[in-house]
Amino acid sequence: AKNTDTPAPRISVIGTGYLGATHAAAMAEMGFEVIGVDTDPAKVAALAIGEVPFFEPGLPELLRKHVSTGRLRFTTDLAEATALSDVHFICVGTPQQRGSNAANTSYVEAATVEVVRNLTHDGLIVGKSTVPVGTAGRLRVAVQSNLPSGIHAELIWNPEFLREGKAVADTLTPDRIVIGGTSAASEAIMREVYAVPIATGTPVIVCDLPTAELVKVSANAFLATKISFINAIAEVCEAAGANVTVLADALGHDIRIGRQFLNAGLGFGGGCLPKDIRALMHRSGELGAHSAVSLMQQVDEINMAQRQRVIDLTLEALGGSVLNRRIGILGAAFKPDTDDVRDSPALNVAAALHLRGAQVIVFDPEAGTTAKKIFPTLGYADSTDEAVTNADVVLVLTEWPEFVSADPVRLLGLAQGASVIDARNCIDRAAWEQAGWTVRSLGRSAQP
Ligand code: NAD
Repeated sequence: AKNTDTPAPRISVIGTGYLGATHAAAMAEMGFEVIGVDTDPAKVAALAIGEVPFFEPGLPELLRKHVSTGRLRFTTDLAEATALSDVHFICVGTPQQRGSNAANTSYVEAATVEVVRNLTHDGLIVGKSTVPVGTAGRLRVAVQSNLPSGIHAELIWNPEFLREGKAVADTLTPDRIVIGGTSAASEAIMREVYAVPIATGTPVIVCDLPTAELVKVSANAFLATKISFINAIAEVCEAAGANVTVLADALGHDIRIGRQFLNAGLGFGGGCLPKDIRALMHRSGELGAHSAVSLMQQVDEINMAQRQRVIDLTLEALGGSVLNRRIGILGAAFKPDTDDVRDSPALNVAAALHLRGAQVIVFDPEAGTTAKKIFPTLGYADSTDEAVTNADVVLVLTEWPEFVSADPVRLLGLAQGASVIDARNCIDRAAWEQAGWTVRSLGRSAQP
């Protein structure tokens, strides 16, 4: 039960990107006073007036609800945020380092040290970013050596498992809460912070720091492995005349396996899985854990090869050259329900075809703007119809519902050619073939 004698902890969230903005809004929804901090003034300005600077279903509503009551605020001023709060969530990015597989932990280090130096009263620092195992232990030393005199602070780790596209629900009702490295006092604070999901039965795993860091990394490594596994099997299916989608459905009925993350196709991308498996590869190597290195290397290689396979299928569909051919590309985001194009397989394929001289026209329901920032030289359309119009070949690269339900008869009337490459095994192949399209997909033979 909540101790009514002590006021509820006030919360700061450092780094308000996909993870931090969602976490801040969810903490406000759970009843806390929250202040979000980011070094990007444009991001803060948008969030402060209740606008989410990226696409995430349900988040704008939640943000506006709490910004309008003042329970949720945003600032670029870290000193202001630390003065006003007791629990500080570190949610800054840990991207892949340039020229290395390792994660760049410098933002996490800088944010943590900055929080500590600005503490005006005792606090609890909670790492949420995904970090290589051992990072938190190192940070603990930095916390103690940067504390202002007379101030006490503890550092614990509470990794985040939210999925983009489902971030709000995942944050409000997580599958599990992992907290590592807690003392009795900090565990009690975390149980108070997560009282709402805990009350509805969310399991809490209390563990040591390295286990907490590694749970997150292993979860992503496992999901990536599942996708590369099915893509390896897809290659066998194709060679043997089997159908990988039917196979995956049949496999998925076994609850030990499960159907999710068994969709053969263009593979995984985004701001998490690719960099997280590479960071695990790198860190495992440092630790002398070589099985994880070779496993992750294979998972990465299989995944990246899928992009080349889609390029090869496109070349095949166009008789060996894409030069000056018009390619209608449906999808730029790394998956549906997001505008995130970080390491997006769809955009990667589009750019590769563009570099080979194709006229590439990309349409994505939400990720057009983010895609243009990274690849301004590609052609962009405002609708599925516009992307397909006069196309010699159509590529479905992200399984957005509107591509899945598009009318193949109407699209055939718009296109120049009659070839579609379903790189996500998501369209109704029979219906498209009946309409007159030649459909190619990964993991199924060319013939129906
Ligand atoms: P992001 O790039 O969208 O957001 C990071 C934010 O941190 C940026 O807005 C940046 O301006 C800000 N920042 C950097 N240094 C700062 C500092 N010193 N002070 C204040 N703000 C600072 O990244 P993200 O996708 O939100 O990921 C953040 C972390 O969460 C990563 O470690 C990632 O692996 C992990 N994670 C992400 C997801 C996801 O689905 N995006 C899910 C779980 C875990």
